[in-house]
Amino acid sequence: MRFSEFGDKFTRRSGILRLMDDLGKALSSPKAPLMLGGGNPAFIPEVQSRIRARMQAMLANGDEFERLIGNYESPQGNLAFIEALCALLKTHYGWDIAPCNVAITAGSQASFFLLFNMFAGRFRDGQKKKILLPMAPEYIGYTDLGLIEGLFTARRPQIECLAQHRFKYHVDFEHIEVSPDIGAICFSRPTNPTGNVLADDEVKRIMTLARESQIPLIMDNAYGSPFPNIVFTAATPLWDERAIVCLSLSKLGLPGARTGIVLAPEPVAQAIVGMNAIFNLAPSSLGALLTLELVKSGEIIRLGQEVLKPFYRGKAEQAVGWLDIALEGLDYFVHRPEGAMFLWLWLRGLPIKSEQLYERLRRRGVVVVSGHYFFPGLEGDWRHHHECIRISYAQTPETVQQGIAIIGDEARKAYREG
Ligand code: PLP
Repeated sequence: MRFSEFGDKFTRRSGILRLMDDLGKALSSPKAPLMLGGGNPAFIPEVQSRIRARMQAMLANGDEFERLIGNYESPQGNLAFIEALCALLKTHYGWDIAPCNVAITAGSQASFFLLFNMFAGRFRDGQKKKILLPMAPEYIGYTDLGLIEGLFTARRPQIECLAQHRFKYHVDFEHIEVSPDIGAICFSRPTNPTGNVLADDEVKRIMTLARESQIPLIMDNAYGSPFPNIVFTAATPLWDERAIVCLSLSKLGLPGARTGIVLAPEPVAQAIVGMNAIFNLAPSSLGALLTLELVKSGEIIRLGQEVLKPFYRGKAEQAVGWLDIALEGLDYFVHRPEGAMFLWLWLRGLPIKSEQLYERLRRRGVVVVSGHYFFPGLEGDWRHHHECIRISYAQTPETVQQGIAIIGDEARKAYREG
């Protein structure tokens, strides 16, 4: 079959396809492998019971359910939800966001496809622009989103080695220059895959860079504020009227509802609305309606603060403890877990590539993600690139503990061979 350039580009065996394929198969197969791979959130009873109760109320309430499934939503998304969200952001953060600044999408992955290709790629005057990722490792899902090749340019971080086999990345501002071929800047906070949370002063410096260059700054808060707020450090939710903030209901526990939210200056938000109409006619209202009461009451913020944050922090501490046991005596570093749901393991001087380690682990029934996928737009050869893996700790403690023991075993074997 002959495909167009578009068809060729988007049917490649991309990293994100491999990751989602592994995830889908693992979660649906009767003999599930130890799934420490994809970014599926945990099943948290306190969250799920509220969503279930809301669904039951919808089913019991006249024709509410029939209207949910029987009507197209407007291309902007459910207005009651958008209004409640604006009120919530005003009350809790003082953010001045009106409904005209909001667009709902089919998940934040879809938001990034639209935003990246709006601000980077080929322009009518012949210019070609890129998205600057101030620090890689960055989210694997960005990698293949460009309509053109080479949509990203990224910078290496500074690495701070800490005591007791920990380390932390920092933005290397010395090497960040916003040249005229940069169309927008983007980062995830917390960062998938590392669990790093950019410090307030790092975010403020990046905001200043974007403002001075008059380009948009896109902040990916899929794990951050206002919800699900899986952040273990004292990071301030930062925003200004030029920022584009992408939110999602997925990591709160509703990845199946495919709901992304873009907060942006009006022309950008309205551009997303227009593209929604072309690509999808309208977004689904399922996620919006299932969480409407949580947003109206502010409960969604409390759930993040009092349920999700301690839940994931506890899991992170437990998983790090197991890693320290499994890797004892090896030259390893774990990125300080500051948020999200992953451990980023750096096996310094690993004699095999992380992709080979991934394959060996897979053969032993453990699925992780090879770190080399998380450097979209980073040029040049860098050994570090092949020395890391991402481990999700969102699954059950038994799964995580068993998986980590096997990771330790395989890492030890690999070092012994080298
Ligand atoms: N951004 C980050 C950093 C992510 O980790 C993910 C999913 O794992 C997404 C965006 C996309 O999430 P969704 O499309 O489910 O909203």
